[in-house]
Amino acid sequence: MTALNETHSPELTSWVTSANADASDFPIQNLPFASFRRAGTQESYRGGVAIGDQVLDLEAVADAGIFEGLAQEAVALCVLEDLNEFMAMGKEAWSALRLSLSRALRTGSAHQDQLEGALLAQAEAEYKLPCRIVDYTDFYTSVYHASAVGALFRPDNPLLPNYKWVPIGYHGRASSIGVSGQTFPRPCGQTKAPDASEPSLGPCKRLDYEVEMGIFIGKGNEIGEPIAIEQAEDHVFGLCLFNDWSARDIQAWEYQPLGPFLAKNFASTISPWIVTTEALVPFRESYSRDSNDPQPMAYLSSPNNSEQGSFDIALDCFIQTAGSNAENHLSTSNFKYSYWTVAQMVTHHTVNGCNLQAGDLLGSGTQSGPNADEAGSLLELTNGGKQPLTLANGEQRTFVEDEDTIIMRGYCQRDGARRIGFGEVTSRVTAAKLVK
Ligand code: CA
Repeated sequence: MTALNETHSPELTSWVTSANADASDFPIQNLPFASFRRAGTQESYRGGVAIGDQVLDLEAVADAGIFEGLAQEAVALCVLEDLNEFMAMGKEAWSALRLSLSRALRTGSAHQDQLEGALLAQAEAEYKLPCRIVDYTDFYTSVYHASAVGALFRPDNPLLPNYKWVPIGYHGRASSIGVSGQTFPRPCGQTKAPDASEPSLGPCKRLDYEVEMGIFIGKGNEIGEPIAIEQAEDHVFGLCLFNDWSARDIQAWEYQPLGPFLAKNFASTISPWIVTTEALVPFRESYSRDSNDPQPMAYLSSPNNSEQGSFDIALDCFIQTAGSNAENHLSTSNFKYSYWTVAQMVTHHTVNGCNLQAGDLLGSGTQSGPNADEAGSLLELTNGGKQPLTLANGEQRTFVEDEDTIIMRGYCQRDGARRIGFGEVTSRVTAAKLVK
């Protein structure tokens, strides 16, 4: 795992003055990556780094030729609209580019004059997915979410016996993953009410969001070559916010015996910015298990994973309805509650020889915390739709209605470090489109 270095110093400031505001998600200590262009144009998308309320255009940085060695090789690959090739270079290249960007954007940098013209206000930018998402795997790493959902689906047997031994996951679908701002029609599908004799086809009645972290693989592994846990994070480029939309009524009818299918593959939305694992170093947490629980098997255990395997990332979720511009707070949770770490997910995914590739996305699973108001889905917050939430404007919700927008934000904050944020992921559901 990467150590603290000069790029994390809380004393650093930038000549991009908006980056120095206390509330900015994107101070010089963050430097997350996206693929962007000027909004409303046909320009090519290319790599960008967030600094304050601006995007630094990495194509312009590459053209300026101000970096050297590995950093210049890395930025030269960030001119492409998909960052997969840069991500595949590995952590020495990611780190070299981060250090060069940090030095170039610092107060007093000799490169300020050359780079001032390479900035675009984020308010004038639009984004695409930061890379080609090659494959998508969704985990289930919150024991609080697994227990709460299990209790709703299987009251007698909420947490299945494998949960505390295996980082549970399933292979999802990459084609329907979109970037923040995504809109999609309410999914239709087969559902069956418990008292109905037969299923019927129609619009989902129990549409839900899931508050998750997205984990982007950078450097992959060869097929047949498992990744040991001590090397697992060398393969992880960074993290983003992830809303894994879910159709609970479709899920309940279809999920046995092979797991989620059409309840999960109609839309999922990520934030545009990938915050690198290096930027997250000051916000690492120790990882341990309750002494009453089985301890992780040897291949899922290491000194580094115990000392700093978790991430302290606060996750906020809001709903905005068509009837009001107000954002209604739904929950706050934290990625540190995860029962399994990022390194354990990577190692377990490859233990059978499965090859991960640059641009693979791992979903963390819904990140619910130990308290009921820290739940990362409406299924949990409304007790399976039995207890509606009342919003500030008096509207009630059990599940997501047409024209509702779900907004998620994430940030890291602790003493001795500069606060960094993930920006936000928003997405909105529109009316169902019925099959002809
Ligand atoms: Ca999920």
